[in-house]
Amino acid sequence: MKDVSCPHLETKLLLMESLSIQEAQFHAHPQKKVFRKQEREFYRLIFKRSCGFPLAYLRGKKEFWSLEYQVGPGVFIPRPETELLVEKVIELWSEGKEIIVDIGTGTGNIALSLDLEIPNARILATDVDSTALNTARKNSLLNQGKNIQFIQGSLFVPLEKKEWVESCDFIVSNPPYVCEKEWGNLQPEIKNHEPKKAVVAGKRGLEFIEKLIQGAPRYLKPGGYLCLEIGSLQKSSALALFGREWKSVQVHNDMQNLPRVVTAQKS
Ligand code: SAM
Ligand code: GLN
Repeated sequence: MKDVSCPHLETKLLLMESLSIQEAQFHAHPQKKVFRKQEREFYRLIFKRSCGFPLAYLRGKKEFWSLEYQVGPGVFIPRPETELLVEKVIELWSEGKEIIVDIGTGTGNIALSLDLEIPNARILATDVDSTALNTARKNSLLNQGKNIQFIQGSLFVPLEKKEWVESCDFIVSNPPYVCEKEWGNLQPEIKNHEPKKAVVAGKRGLEFIEKLIQGAPRYLKPGGYLCLEIGSLQKSSALALFGREWKSVQVHNDMQNLPRVVTAQKS
């Protein structure tokens, strides 16, 4: 576990996983007997973790915005910095703005957080990938999603029906935004295990962001918002993509003070 940043914590989490117990039981019963099978499972998990397998995939879950999400290989692991995107949507929300579309929903983490926080929200969550969408559907059941519809499809294809034109209050997305070259330099933990098509967006890393900025005005109500996560080095190139059909374009910094979220209002 030498390359793991919090080895003590991770070892404890993997031990809890192999014993199938929660944190409270872990502390309440320090004398608990460990069976051979559980011990073998523990060492199997530790071995995989020390080979760089992501902790979230080994545990089969990840926390985001106080809820727990099932996640496994093939599906992007929610990141804490994406909570800023949720925070900004909540800040921009006011009564009557309830139609929200989450493009590239992954585990469903953004959509389910907004479903939890925004009264009367009506959410459409999409993903091009069926493994991601099935995971999101499962997470919606587990976390009692109230008003989320899931549709598989690329970008705006799930919104092709006429009823979606100029009907959305928010279009939100944490799209793939890493460029091909950068992908090669990402930590092996990401590069060797997470789905490339969830992270990489062509040569410049901006292809997906550009399509979202170009396509969103057709589906947003006048005054509706586009809220996107961006890469920390994409502030100026992302800002340059917003034309005259947009106003109040703002970039927001994350906890590490890096540009992370852009919000813009359709004129
Ligand atoms: N929303 C999740 C989050 O914030 O943790 C997942 C974000 S992940 C960076 C990007 C997601 O976009 C992946 O789930 C991927 O399958 C999906 N995706 C990739 N290309 C897409 C496309 N053309 N149309 C819709 N979704 C796409
Ligand atoms: N933050 C992610 C990473 O560095 C990239 C996420 C994305 O492309 N949306 O792995």
